[in-house]
Amino acid sequence: MLLPDHQYVRVDSLKDCLKSLRENGERTHVVAGGTDVIFNMRLRLFQPDIALSIRRIAEIKQVEELADGGLRIGAGCRLVDLAENALINERYPAFADSIRAVASSHIRNIATLGGNICLKTRCWYTNNSEQWRQGVKECFKTDGDLCHVIKSSSLCHAINNADTPLPLIVLGAVLTLQREGESRDVPIADFYQKDGMDHTVLKADELVTHVTLPPCADRTVFLKIAARKGMDFSQAAIAARASGTGTKAGEVSLVLGSISMAPIVLHEPARLIAEQGITDAAIEQAEEKVRAELGELTSLYARAGYKAHLAKVLVRRALKALREM
Ligand SMILES: Cc1cc2nc3c(=O)[nH]c(=O)nc-3n(C[C@H](O)[C@H](O)[C@H](O)COP(=O)(O)OP(=O)(O)OC[C@H]3O[C@@H](n4cnc5c(N)ncnc54)[C@H](O)[C@@H]3O)c2cc1C
Repeated sequence: MLLPDHQYVRVDSLKDCLKSLRENGERTHVVAGGTDVIFNMRLRLFQPDIALSIRRIAEIKQVEELADGGLRIGAGCRLVDLAENALINERYPAFADSIRAVASSHIRNIATLGGNICLKTRCWYTNNSEQWRQGVKECFKTDGDLCHVIKSSSLCHAINNADTPLPLIVLGAVLTLQREGESRDVPIADFYQKDGMDHTVLKADELVTHVTLPPCADRTVFLKIAARKGMDFSQAAIAARASGTGTKAGEVSLVLGSISMAPIVLHEPARLIAEQGITDAAIEQAEEKVRAELGELTSLYARAGYKAHLAKVLVRRALKALREM
């Protein structure tokens, strides 16, 4: 499949990038590693006038150690480099595991953290060739006005399949979003929206430049279920965090991914475990609370009932893994 006609623009500095986005943001698609965006352009899911390559921007390719023990990571860092970074592995093991869970080593060699965080939502009906799509009606993603997944819905139900945002949410990471002359910090927990089309709060003239991780001494875990271990997108994934040791857990967070348009924070199961500790009885009760927090589930990529089952299984496995740490 050939790429649609477009102008390929490479910028060497953040300044030039933000200027270009100010001038042409609406007509531009940012290309970082390009492992997702180029593929989607070939499928004619995006046909931007300008593909703006940010690969040469040195300012967003560094990992800095902060005075408080946290890290500031450039969004342009390649996943392969972050997976091998000693500070990330030592201080944020669940985040390191989520990086290694993305796709295959070939893809991680060029894919970036920013690209993973901003990964577009995916749908079985639209992430297909243009010719294939001629057999189905246009949907929200292809300038139509329906969602094939839930026909009566006024929203696109494509799935957010990115792996690294889940541990970043439990770790309380903050994203720096920059536009020309302006910068804002957004907790990653507030970055995603429950809408497959407009799935983040990022504006057309903004770039995610950095991810700041506060220090974390708590136990954390990341688990992913996929058809194949290397290469496949998650059918469901979880990141979990708990303070304390053994069954004692003062603060708990649980975040599920790949089953909806945005990551899902499981408030009630986390509250229950924080109150009762990570005992077998509490885990069983927490599992029972999971389904109510998932909201409406679709059968996109996996049956709704199976997703509900996976969510419970992942909560159980994550809590038991935390207890054993
Ligand atoms: C076979 C295959 C398997 C895959 N498996 C997985 C998987 O298991 N888990 C997973 O999470 N992903 C998976 N992916 C998707 C993708 O490869 C990764 O998410 C990767 O991290 C995307 O990074 P990238 O730099 O290549 O992003 P790109 O393709 O360059 O960009 C992705 C999106 O992010 C935007 N973007 C990129 N950087 C920025 C930035 N700094 N600021 C604002 N917007 C930005 C782009 O405009 C685009 O919309 C898979 C892809 C393939 C082809």
